Amino acid sequence: MSHIVLEKWNELQLKIEQQRDELNRESLLIILFDWIRGIKKIKDSKVQNLYHEYLAYFEEVSDLDGILNIKPWYSLQELIEYDILKSTELSFERPIVKVRDVLWELLVFKSDKECPCCGDDNLRAMTYKGQKELFFCCDICGCIVDEDGGRKEVDDKLYPAPFELVELKKIGVSSIDN
Ligand SMILES: [Zn+2]
Repeated sequence: MSHIVLEKWNELQLKIEQQRDELNRESLLIILFDWIRGIKKIKDSKVQNLYHEYLAYFEEVSDLDGILNIKPWYSLQELIEYDILKSTELSFERPIVKVRDVLWELLVFKSDKECPCCGDDNLRAMTYKGQKELFFCCDICGCIVDEDGGRKEVDDKLYPAPFELVELKKIGVSSIDN
């Protein structure tokens, strides 16, 4: 018998396959948020640990204002096609990490600012909850800089910057593919 997370992953793939022609960023997010709430209900300590490590953050993010309103910088079709539908997951941990990665792409604006620390990627736009100051974070090396480009140590948890703030501060969009 396959693991319950793999069964849920197959159900998710099927649902997305059936709806793929009508899916947009918002409807895909609603499906994924629903999926992570399903994972949360699985009474298994290993799954619970993975939920808390990878997915609990996004349940919090799903309640933020304006979160369904970020301008996509990525190709939605490629995310659906390659990261979800063509992705064959063999261990039950992998779908959880995969959904975390897809949510990250869907929810966190990627700017045109190059990482000053590693130079290998463009930085994501984030904020403290309910505040207006932006921080720019590197997916690869974890470097964080403020709006003036100075390196920052950040103590509080950062959240995806609302798109209105990204627009207001005229932050350009990344041209790097994920
Ligand atoms: Zn970096």
